[in-house]
Amino acid sequence: MTNPGMKCSRCRRPASHRFPQHNLRLCDACLEIFTERQVERAVKKWRMLAPGQEVVAAISGGKDSLALWQILARLGYRVRAVHISLGFGEFSQASLDACRAMAQRLDAPLEVRGLEDWAGAAVGEIALANRREHCAVCGSLKRHLLNRLVFELGADTLATGHHLDDEAGRLLGNLMRRHAGYLERQWPALEGMAPPAGGGVGLARKVKPLVRLSGDEIRAYAQSQGLPAHLASCPRSKGATLTNYQDALELMEQRMPGTKRDLYFGFLRQKAGPPPPPEPGGLCRQCGGPTRQETCGACLLLRRARETAARRAGQGGAA
Ligand SMILES: [Zn+2]
Ligand SMILES: [Zn+2]
Repeated sequence: MTNPGMKCSRCRRPASHRFPQHNLRLCDACLEIFTERQVERAVKKWRMLAPGQEVVAAISGGKDSLALWQILARLGYRVRAVHISLGFGEFSQASLDACRAMAQRLDAPLEVRGLEDWAGAAVGEIALANRREHCAVCGSLKRHLLNRLVFELGADTLATGHHLDDEAGRLLGNLMRRHAGYLERQWPALEGMAPPAGGGVGLARKVKPLVRLSGDEIRAYAQSQGLPAHLASCPRSKGATLTNYQDALELMEQRMPGTKRDLYFGFLRQKAGPPPPPEPGGLCRQCGGPTRQETCGACLLLRRARETAARRAGQGGAA
């Protein structure tokens, strides 16, 4: 929403971006400075990364993760970009193409892993066997695999492209459903756990450097920078619970600019500080990763999928 003659709030040149939540109008050059500074401030404020630190970045190929990759690299961090291919046909191919184009643009390496290859089954089958929402299963497997990769790559911190809309939407959901545990752990930077002595998989530190930016700010940045982002949203995410909360907040944001910021940052301000670091529990019998149960959540999902497949094969044989 811009009008001709609109001037940049910073430099008074013609502006092409308007952000009512900040009462701010920006030209392309000032948008670049604004966006990258927001990331710099978030990294500092929540002590996400030490200067020049190595960090694994989860890159989906969408605008958020590509912006994350470029900005972290520009701020001097050593970014190890990792793309998990989900196996959703054309959508996944376009996502991978976007990541490769970005790697070329930044002249940086890209690690690619297939979720199906690793899991031994399609996400849809695993979700069905577990009677769980597709997005929840996909997210849980992706997080598990990304966590392993962080340690495989010899790093300890994972950065993701979650931004203000994601965090505010998640917060609204957690508040409405009284998820005390999730509320306690909602924070822009979470401490991890070192791998057990002798090596293996620990729990990666998780940081969200884009939390000070909303989706429309990142979209404007990605467009004005010409990032080769894949803009379609995941074809399997329709009707996902989180999206509903984000849509509800978006509606309020339209009528009351700043709602998302007020909700999320007000919540963080009320907290005493970051949640306590995770307490060491046991190790998963299946994968050796950290867990509070005998078997971790991701390994349980995979086990049920294998059991269902075996039962089906058995029935097929008997018929
Ligand atoms: Zn300007
Ligand atoms: Zn496991």
